[in-house]
Amino acid sequence: MSDAATQLAPNPIPSTSAKTRILCLGGGSVGLYAALRLHRRLKKDQVQITVIDPRPYMQYAPFLPEAGAGNIDARDVVAPHRKALKHLDVLQGKVIKIDHANKTVTVEPEEGDNYQLAYDHVVVGLGSVSRTLPIPGLAENGIGFKNVEEAIAVRNHVLNRMDVAASTTDPKLRQAQLTFTFIGGGFAGIEAVAEIEDMARYATRAYETIVPEDLHFTVIEGAPRILPEVSPDMSQWAFDRLQERGIKIYLNTFLTSCVDGRVVTSGGVEFDSETIVWTAGVKSNPVLAESSDLPLDRIKRVTVKPTLQVVTEDGDVVQGAWAAGDCAAVPDVLNEGKFCPPNAQYAIREARVLADNIVAELRGKPVKDFVHKNVGVVCSLGKWKGVAEFANQRIKIKGPLAWLAHRAYHVMAMPTGNRKTRILIGWAGQALLGREIISLGSVEDPRHEFKAVAVPAAPPGVTVEQKAESAAATGVAGEVASGHDSQ
Ligand SMILES: Cc1cc2nc3c(=O)[nH]c(=O)nc-3n(C[C@H](O)[C@H](O)[C@H](O)COP(=O)(O)OP(=O)(O)OC[C@H]3O[C@@H](n4cnc5c(N)ncnc54)[C@H](O)[C@@H]3O)c2cc1C
Repeated sequence: MSDAATQLAPNPIPSTSAKTRILCLGGGSVGLYAALRLHRRLKKDQVQITVIDPRPYMQYAPFLPEAGAGNIDARDVVAPHRKALKHLDVLQGKVIKIDHANKTVTVEPEEGDNYQLAYDHVVVGLGSVSRTLPIPGLAENGIGFKNVEEAIAVRNHVLNRMDVAASTTDPKLRQAQLTFTFIGGGFAGIEAVAEIEDMARYATRAYETIVPEDLHFTVIEGAPRILPEVSPDMSQWAFDRLQERGIKIYLNTFLTSCVDGRVVTSGGVEFDSETIVWTAGVKSNPVLAESSDLPLDRIKRVTVKPTLQVVTEDGDVVQGAWAAGDCAAVPDVLNEGKFCPPNAQYAIREARVLADNIVAELRGKPVKDFVHKNVGVVCSLGKWKGVAEFANQRIKIKGPLAWLAHRAYHVMAMPTGNRKTRILIGWAGQALLGREIISLGSVEDPRHEFKAVAVPAAPPGVTVEQKAESAAATGVAGEVASGHDSQ
């Protein structure tokens, strides 16, 4: 392993050998809900629950497209760990190694030396990361849409490109600025492109020189249809509505290159695009394949039984190890031979059963299988637009009703009453005052202006006075002498 593992610091959790130690790796849908349930069901003097995550919050990903479109404030799609997990131990850091043979994990905190934590039970809820391909130009020019930081960056970027386009006289440059490319026509990709297009179309009202027809949104999808999660007729309906809005969708097509923003597809289409958003699927958290001794399947997910207990290839339960969510291969007992889909609907419910089974095991009671019948799919395609299916695709709704179902379902599923209320207030405010279309991309580099005016430190041997004189000669005297900006 890295030198990290050889330089371990004492861990920040006080030693509690008398208690059963449960570590939740990741504080997302699985980690947060499992920890909360364990906390509720177990006696505090008998168990110590610790959640480890590099982020100080759990993000509710189904609302990321709405956050990207500015319909929900970025802060409202996350549940802060310190509030949601009050009374539990929360550590901000990255798990970089799982050594289940010795029941320890190694944590890399944001600052300082790495440390090890010992446990009796580990809950692996490390989620997934964007699954990318070695496409020329993608690493340099692309961005994912997998977390709140990316969703807000895409929003700021799109609005900023519109500002750039409105301020140039170069038609080629203008066209590239107003061309937005999304790779992947699955659920996350289609919701993202539809919401962002809806926002950009609305934003054109504020521009004298940009009309909706100037915007070029493109989706590149390798499969023969979009939204594989819904039935073919609903997928076709969504496809037609998006095309009507001017969103060009290339099916059975792959991105082959995007060097310097020049998009080239497997179908031979080429165009310049200043925005390339990668939403073409996810893969299990790589730390599992790189630095853990837990059993994994072919695509590097932790193998588990329907009880969410980690299991070896031979079917032996790995005592004290539990996993669920995007990073686990959870057998779907209602569909033999299949696995539960990687989505929040399943992850949150798996977390609850996982926690109940840990409680059962600690009490010497039998563990139960995770059994869940898909409640349906609700997909937003922008304000008042959507598709939804329930009851095994027997109930299908489209348009405003589907969009309302999407909002109702997800606001109910959003963790904490505080966030639910904030989101509802935000929607009400927006209905009254209209959408916010300001781009605050500059918050991503807040020191930019200060760095441009800051006077570099004097080299050794030069006094501050000499430095001030030299600055005065180059016209930055006001800043050195008085600390005020020279206008
Ligand atoms: C844009 C988008 C839209 C979606 N829409 C829907 C939808 O409408 N409906 C639906 O059901 N699902 C949806 N999903 C999928 C859903 O969000 C996920 O399936 C679900 O969150 C998985 O839960 P999880 O706990 O496995 O992972 P996550 O919720 O992603 O949690 C993983 C946690 O692990 C943390 N972590 C990562 N690496 C480390 C590390 N090394 N050490 C410690 N912690 C780590 C992360 O910070 C994160 O908090 C969407 C996803 C996206 C990206």
